[in-house]
Amino acid sequence: MTEPDADFIIIGSGPAGVSAALPLIAAGRRVLMLDSGDDAGSQEESRSVRVLGSNLESLRTDDGSSPKLQTPAARGILEPFRHQSGITGDGFIPIGSLARGGLSNIWGAQISYLDAEDIADWPIDIASLQRSYEHVAKRIGISRNADVTTGANGEPVLPLGATAAHVLHRHQAAKPADKSFRLFPAVNAILSDARSGRAACDLRGDCLYGCPSGAIYNSRQDLLPLRKSPHFRLLDNMRAVSLTRNAGWTVGTADGSFFSAPRIILAAGVLGTAALLADLLPIDEQGLRLLNSPTLAIPLLSPARLLRSPTATHSLAQLGLSLRYGDGASDYVTGAIYEVGSLPAQSFINRMPLGRKAGRAAFEMIASSLLVATIYYPGNQSRSYIGRDATTKKALTIRGGFAEGFDIRAEALKKTLRREWKRLGLIQLPGASLAEPGIDAHFAGTLPMGASGPFGSSSDGELNRHPGLHIVDGSILPDLSSKYVTMTIMANADRIAHRLAETEANSAL
Ligand SMILES: Cc1cc2nc3c(=O)[nH]c(=O)nc-3n(C[C@H](O)[C@H](O)[C@H](O)COP(=O)(O)OP(=O)(O)OC[C@H]3O[C@@H](n4cnc5c(N)ncnc54)[C@H](O)[C@@H]3O)c2cc1C
Repeated sequence: MTEPDADFIIIGSGPAGVSAALPLIAAGRRVLMLDSGDDAGSQEESRSVRVLGSNLESLRTDDGSSPKLQTPAARGILEPFRHQSGITGDGFIPIGSLARGGLSNIWGAQISYLDAEDIADWPIDIASLQRSYEHVAKRIGISRNADVTTGANGEPVLPLGATAAHVLHRHQAAKPADKSFRLFPAVNAILSDARSGRAACDLRGDCLYGCPSGAIYNSRQDLLPLRKSPHFRLLDNMRAVSLTRNAGWTVGTADGSFFSAPRIILAAGVLGTAALLADLLPIDEQGLRLLNSPTLAIPLLSPARLLRSPTATHSLAQLGLSLRYGDGASDYVTGAIYEVGSLPAQSFINRMPLGRKAGRAAFEMIASSLLVATIYYPGNQSRSYIGRDATTKKALTIRGGFAEGFDIRAEALKKTLRREWKRLGLIQLPGASLAEPGIDAHFAGTLPMGASGPFGSSSDGELNRHPGLHIVDGSILPDLSSKYVTMTIMANADRIAHRLAETEANSAL
């Protein structure tokens, strides 16, 4: 190998990539980060362009996906991936990003933590993950979003919307019909107190269009301190397309450049990483297993809140919930409840059988009393595979599907939940729907830590049979619980980077 460009090359500047870069830089290692995106069109656009698009496209388009994925800002993040990644879906919506900051540009910022039971089959201990959760939480800033003024740890918190607060109050007053049902204020990576370069949340309620003041965590924010370090270099518009092993590793990019380092760290997101590794993996007819979270959306109405004015709040999840549906350790669902009053009205009005004008009048009357619950099943309820396209043998196609008997389990869950909605004074409205696989964007398990064979990786995310090639995104999580996954991706990347920083330091002695 000629003189390496860095000690580590990290591919991807999303939550996983920055979480790996920070500990390596702190340990004095030289890091080169390549990202396929750049800074164009990020925070500078006016609010109306972000909401409606430069030619009012938002008012014309309704592709049936969530309001969030229909916003021009979200489409700008997702479409380049659809066109350039070489990945298509068959009964599966492949959600990925080639923008700087990855999917954290449009994520819902809801946070979950795994516990010892959740990671019982992983080749790591919960204490090391907890240490990394703490590093990440401290760095990104988390508001507990409760209806009290100070959280348990003394941090100021954000107020709940009035309808969510009303529902939580009812929950606390009457015992759940199913004793495993839990409802609690959502934990979100939103700042309630300003910090360097980021303002506190001003409760404007239109977070889906991107937060112009930076109150919601986005991994671009971590690039600012990283870029101040003389050991860190970020190259934009550098889409990695090949990985070659020589004395170390060489990355080839779409523009014909080459970069080499003893170790490569892949943080391109589960789908981006699979696309990059496709030529190094013996993907057979069945394809590479992919875990995703089957997702139900349930519209709810709170009659007690009809005709009341909404209160100021952010438009991310207000409440979190969980419920067991079986006896196994991972047999529980996790969910979030959003207030509809602070979401974009258009996609709801388009679904009303009333015509636009009457639809708008009706929506204005009931908006403050409408809620949407999104419920996530664990990844073992999915049956998705990444295979080679049968005709080209080059591009990848993801076949989506559900585990056997999932439809029965989904119906049983809806029935159990109906009793809880009733207890909470909520009416379940028609229109509850199961999303097409992939739309949740919670992906994991393609190259699990601890598995043997060509599709496994070590506890340090090193791909079996490919020394020096490490993966830190969701690909290496051995299973996917129903909990929100990004905090764990970040903590695991932080854990691996600390380990690499230590081993590298020792081998240099
Ligand atoms: C609408 C939506 C809402 C969500 N809400 C939540 C939520 O509330 N809570 C939660 O926990 N999770 C949520 N998620 C999921 C969350 O966004 C992802 O888990 C997280 O962003 C994954 O981080 P990552 O760094 O692994 O990958 P990504 O965020 O996908 O980042 C990948 C990075 O790699 C770069 N890249 C990709 N391919 C290449 C290449 N070939 N060469 C160079 N660079 C490349 C991209 O430009 C990008 O910077 C949501 C996702 C979506 C879409």
